[in-house]
Amino acid sequence: MKQEAIPLPLELDHAGTVDRLERLVQREREGRLQAEAIAERGLRELYDSQVRLALLQRITDCANRSNDFSDAIDEVLKEICEHMSWAFGTAYRVDGGGKVVSCDSWYSAEPARLFPLVEATRERTFASGEGLPGRVLRDAHPHWIDEAELATDFCRRVEAALCGIRSACGFPVLIGDEIVCVLEFFARTAMIDKDAILLTVTQAATQLARVIERERAREALVHDALHDAMTGLPNRTLLDERARAAFDRLADNREGLAVLVIDLDGFKAINDTYGHHAGDIVLIETARRFENVIAARCGGRRRGDQASWRATLARVGGDEFVVVLDALPDPAIARELSGALIEALKAPIAVADEYVNVGLSVGIAHSSTGYATVDQLRQDADLAMYEAKSGGHGGVVTFSEALGAERRSRMAMENELRDAIRERQFTLFYQPIFALAEGPGGSEKLRGFEALIRWNHPERGLVEPGRFIPAAEAGGLIVFIGDWVLREACNAMARLHADLTARGHKPEDLPYISINIAPQQFLQPSFSAHVQRVLLETGVPPERVRLEVTEGVAIIDPDQTRQVLEQVRSWGVQTSLDDFGTGYSSLSYLQNLPFDTLKIDRSFIASMHDPKSRKIIRAILDLASNLNLSVVAEGIETGEQGASLREMGCEFGQGFHLGRPLDEASAFALIWPEGKDTDA
Ligand code: C2E
Ligand code: MG
Ligand code: MG
Repeated sequence: MKQEAIPLPLELDHAGTVDRLERLVQREREGRLQAEAIAERGLRELYDSQVRLALLQRITDCANRSNDFSDAIDEVLKEICEHMSWAFGTAYRVDGGGKVVSCDSWYSAEPARLFPLVEATRERTFASGEGLPGRVLRDAHPHWIDEAELATDFCRRVEAALCGIRSACGFPVLIGDEIVCVLEFFARTAMIDKDAILLTVTQAATQLARVIERERAREALVHDALHDAMTGLPNRTLLDERARAAFDRLADNREGLAVLVIDLDGFKAINDTYGHHAGDIVLIETARRFENVIAARCGGRRRGDQASWRATLARVGGDEFVVVLDALPDPAIARELSGALIEALKAPIAVADEYVNVGLSVGIAHSSTGYATVDQLRQDADLAMYEAKSGGHGGVVTFSEALGAERRSRMAMENELRDAIRERQFTLFYQPIFALAEGPGGSEKLRGFEALIRWNHPERGLVEPGRFIPAAEAGGLIVFIGDWVLREACNAMARLHADLTARGHKPEDLPYISINIAPQQFLQPSFSAHVQRVLLETGVPPERVRLEVTEGVAIIDPDQTRQVLEQVRSWGVQTSLDDFGTGYSSLSYLQNLPFDTLKIDRSFIASMHDPKSRKIIRAILDLASNLNLSVVAEGIETGEQGASLREMGCEFGQGFHLGRPLDEASAFALIWPEGKDTDA
């Protein structure tokens, strides 16, 4: 039997439909909400990224506009804080010692409310690993503080709590792998979307890094323009700038500024012997030692008792350094510092497997009301340095008025000498030189003359060489004067020879002319060529010319001295070592340099009554005879001296007793005592 389907009650079926429908509606609503949420999130993300893009655009513009970090940082902090709704943002620079130092740039929309935290942050330094900035520095990546109150490693927790700060973050600003800056931000709420924060702040940091890179490039350019590339010290330009500024700052009494001019002794020899690379090493090491000495004095150690004076050490030329001391409480510091610099160079410097020693000559000048410019001060320090150097052993000389007066008179003398050269104010005197043992009845036979220069000054009359030769040497004028002497003396001798030959003198009896040659003149590269030209032009026989030099030439340049002596001797010219016994009297010069004659200095003859002097004279005579040198005794003032010297075997002599230096006519008339004209 077929069973009928029992219909469900209508209400029940309806309830199920409603249920289903509701579920459907619910699902549909959920789907719609989801779709809406997705759409809204997409929109918000789009909006956020647009806002972020706009922010980054503003930061980039700011970075492009800014000349240096300090120009950019305030604006960048403000932009980020406003964008993130953060309470406080600040920045730190990384210093040379591996610490982060607050650059006192910060932003807060409510500075009054943030006061405790700002105060605890400004002018603050963090070591690597210390506090939030220190951790960023150590790890080179961002750090977060989510709950400031609970963060035990947060040094400014108390201040942050007072300001209602809840969270913080720190970011490195990197150039390559190097952290150059740390950014730090604080918020009163939680920092939730860390990815977005990271993205934004990292991009802002990249822009700041660009600014710092540009700042560095510009600083490097400026540094290079103002510093010496080899030693890294300030150069002349920077020194001048600082010296002028210090001079302008001087108080009414104009005291407190000192200039030290320092020159290395023997530096040229190091360059010549070991090469320029060795010279560079010496300069770099010298600069380093000087810096240490100055830093130790001017930096911390003495600050307590002596107000902090300043020092600028500069390399201004090859081996020349200058120190400008500013705000000096006591002038004695300059001398003490100079002594310390000399001391610092006492330890030898290692170059090319050897150790070299360098000395110093230091000149000091102190400011006073007498100076109108700092350049004058510098010139006086220079002068004092030359004074120190001229002593031969370096050391320290402080400029004084006496030194200044001497310089002024030397400069005036130099100017006058220039006029004298132009106006031919010089004249030669001739002092006869005799063979002590020859001649009938013991009377000496005249063998030659020494040419001795005199300056026929328009006002002062005849000036002796001792009064102007040193100035002529110092000013380099001796070379011009000496050339004139050489030519004039040879001309005079050629005239005399012509006269004597006309009177039947035998060529072997013609007198010789002895000419003094200054070291500067002798060591001129063109000297021997000049001698040769003068000999040819004047026609005086080379063997009747004698060149007198002092040991000075051999000390300056023994090799060249030897070459020149050998060259002139090869033409027959004779050579004479003048003033023997007064200088170093090194036997090695006598042995190694080709001299024909040795002149015993007149100081030994003047003290001949002293047995010691007689012993020295005897020793010199022995030495000369062993080395095959003839000897001329200078400065014979009495007959006794002449007789003693003759007795001791001294061959030749010269002196007031035998004949004073005389003008040409009077001196040459000695050859014919009965008178030139009557004898003709
Ligand atoms: P010197 O070459 O040793 O010349 C000898 C000096 O001794 C001369 O002085 C001469 O006048 C002086 N004299 C000679 N006999 C006696 C004496 O018995 N007693 C005393 N007390 N002095 C005596 P002068 O002419 O004043 O020259 C001094 C120095 O100047 C010379 O010393 C020489 O070094 C230098 N000198 C002179 N003329 C020239 C020159 O033309 N060129 C260069 N470079 N130097 C020169
Ligand atoms: Mg002489
Ligand atoms: Mg002499």
